[in-house]
Amino acid sequence: MSASDVKFTPDILVLVACDGNSETLAMATNIRKAGLSCVCFSNFHTMAEHWRYLEPAIILVDAAVADEFFRCRSENEVFQDLPVIEIVSPDIDSRVKALAAGAVDCIVKPVINEELFARLRTQLELQAAQRQFKLVNMQFATTLEKMGQGVCFFDADRRLVLSNRRYAEVYGIEPEAIIPGMRLEEIAELRYAAGACPPISHQEYLDWCDAVNSSPSPQNWSAELMSGKVIRVHHERTADGGWVSTHEDVTEHRDAERQITHLALHDPLTDLPNRAALKKELDVLIKKNREQDFPFAVLCLDLDRFKEVNDLFGHNAGDLLLCTIADRLRAISDEAFVARLGGDEFMVLAELDVKFASSLADRIIASLSEDADIDGTRVRIGVSIGVAVFPADGGSAGVLMSNADAALYRAKAEGRGTIRFFEPQMDQWLREKRSLQRDLHAALSRQQLAVVYQPQADIGGDIMGFEALLRWHHPTRGNVPPSVFIPIAEESSLIIELGEWVLRAACKEAASWPNELQIAVNLSPVQFKHGDLSNLVRSVLVDTGLSPDRLELEITEGVLIDDFERAIATLGRLKGLGVRIAMDDFGTGYSSLSYLQSFPFDKIKIDQSFIRQAGQSQSAAIIRAVIGLGRGLDLPVIAEGVESEDQLAFLTRESCHQVQGYLVGRPQPISVYARYVGREVPEMDQVRSKRDGDPLSQWRKEQSKRGLPQSL
Ligand SMILES: [Mg+2]
Repeated sequence: MSASDVKFTPDILVLVACDGNSETLAMATNIRKAGLSCVCFSNFHTMAEHWRYLEPAIILVDAAVADEFFRCRSENEVFQDLPVIEIVSPDIDSRVKALAAGAVDCIVKPVINEELFARLRTQLELQAAQRQFKLVNMQFATTLEKMGQGVCFFDADRRLVLSNRRYAEVYGIEPEAIIPGMRLEEIAELRYAAGACPPISHQEYLDWCDAVNSSPSPQNWSAELMSGKVIRVHHERTADGGWVSTHEDVTEHRDAERQITHLALHDPLTDLPNRAALKKELDVLIKKNREQDFPFAVLCLDLDRFKEVNDLFGHNAGDLLLCTIADRLRAISDEAFVARLGGDEFMVLAELDVKFASSLADRIIASLSEDADIDGTRVRIGVSIGVAVFPADGGSAGVLMSNADAALYRAKAEGRGTIRFFEPQMDQWLREKRSLQRDLHAALSRQQLAVVYQPQADIGGDIMGFEALLRWHHPTRGNVPPSVFIPIAEESSLIIELGEWVLRAACKEAASWPNELQIAVNLSPVQFKHGDLSNLVRSVLVDTGLSPDRLELEITEGVLIDDFERAIATLGRLKGLGVRIAMDDFGTGYSSLSYLQSFPFDKIKIDQSFIRQAGQSQSAAIIRAVIGLGRGLDLPVIAEGVESEDQLAFLTRESCHQVQGYLVGRPQPISVYARYVGREVPEMDQVRSKRDGDPLSQWRKEQSKRGLPQSL
């Protein structure tokens, strides 16, 4: 309600303190007639008790009771804020006395109504104006205190007029220590004592404040204080030459900004710089070293056995191991820039030439090959390193990284714990390989892959079964040899998908044959490391209806070398299904007798490389030894790659049990061998078979001519 809104209404109560004389009572009656409420009181001692219910707006006091009224009023705080008008006698002393006692105004007897109402109205309007002012003042004070920013007003003499608590808190000063009237110098002293000052001297700071305030336009700045806090200030000069400023603690914002910038350039797990940061650093190094004509090395690292740690001990252990690796790399790489590119790939940039880069790579291999303690488990891994050196191996970040990567591929291909420096021919091979990798991913869905079947026969010529082999017919490259695409599939783990597809296709095919011949399917070491192989085989057998004793799984020594315990356990479960396990490519790897003895294999396959050179004494000795080994372990031996009569004659003499190779039959679509699996052969195909010559039947005739048994 504003002062001008005051109207005489019954809501406004006028108290009249009197001794009940007729003149005063008549005045009260006139007040009521004017539309106001009016109550006469003579007992002031009890008045306080009714006060809160009456809520009067103004008090009129008759001079006859004024002394007693003002005494009671002084004893009761609730009366203090109410305006009091005293009805006085005409002499000046009475008026002076009334005003001295606490009256805000006087009305001289005899009371004239017009004057009474004019003075009442004035006091009521004044009261309303005061209430309005108090309300605005309270709202302003509340707003000031609730603000998240510190606010202060200074006058032209650099004295504080007003500030809120937040202003003191922003600078770490007790709010009570800052009081209006203080000079800027005094407040600055408090700030310096609290460490909440800029990194300049006290006087320099005051001079700077003067300079800022001399500008007529608003100023904004952020200052980092000695305490580490960051304060954002908005400063505006006021018309009287003083200023008003707001102060906001933006330390958290700044920290968050830094954190975001850090995260954008760092790997969250190890806190090493990430690929983006590495790229930036590479660009800086290239620019700097090009000008100075200095070399620097890019070392591309890939951990050996890391996937096995993840598989065996879980991802948490893998993460802990990566952190350990990061710590070791930081420690060993001195001033080199170490980054994690993702997974188990790290990269190191070092301003070193070939010789010193080689020495750094040696130290990294030695450090990372040491056992790591992961939650009480000793874990041993290793690392392979590819190195490219600027400027010889590339002048841009992309080329250097790609060439270091190519060198790494070569290093990994040559065995674990190897360092290889980039050579130009690696680049070509890497590009080729990546292109093949891309195409291979799409090959299955584009139906470019097919399973072909190569017969396996006993030495007498009876077909025992077929080995299922995967073939890839590339639309532009033609047939890509398995020796090229299988390792590529194994690197990208695509082999898991391909392996399952071949197993399922071969088992389905074999299950459909009228003759219950065996079917041999190759397994990759990668299939042993990922997923549940025994469950897969079980489900394929169930789905296809193939009897387990017709399935032979061929594995290489690589399965056992990588993780012996796990592989043996998986082989045990596979064997438990009733399938047979053959040791493939025997003689090419470690040819370890202990591997052969460690598991009840069902067959040994002599690698075709020995059979091809069976005419040479060394290869003949090895073939003889493997056949002897099989005899000693009571294991049948099958020779792969049999292509000539001489080779067959040699194997027959050595009492090899079974043979496989072009002489028996090439890997072909199963339709070519339809009659051997017991299917009806269309007439046309029989004619064609007679014309082209059926290798199997011819070979069987030859064996008969020699008088050899048809089966062993
Ligand atoms: Mg094989």
